[in-house]
Amino acid sequence: MAIAESIVREAEFFLAESGGAQASRLTIVIGEFSGVDEEALSFALPFASEGTRLAGAEFDFEKERADAECRVCGSKQACVFPLAVCASCGSSDVEVSGGTGLVIKSMELNDV
Ligand SMILES: [Zn+2]
Repeated sequence: MAIAESIVREAEFFLAESGGAQASRLTIVIGEFSGVDEEALSFALPFASEGTRLAGAEFDFEKERADAECRVCGSKQACVFPLAVCASCGSSDVEVSGGTGLVIKSMELNDV
């Protein structure tokens, strides 16, 4: 899975920068509009991390909610995935912000 591999690569880059430590735990934030399947990712990550500095690490996941602003009535609210529809006036002319990313929020390192 390409997404798991890119997370591992990004984490390895950071670990190499910080003196070649190993990671014991990663917290990954998944935006609800990122299209990333948390279950598939949690399954793929241990395989992608084999033989790397992340081998044996635990992975935690957090969801990031998306916010929407209605262009018709101006109300702001959190989106209800997968519908980007204004809860106040029912318009689908809403601008979604946030919730699209996939980021490594934090990493715990093993003591070397
Ligand atoms: Zn509205």
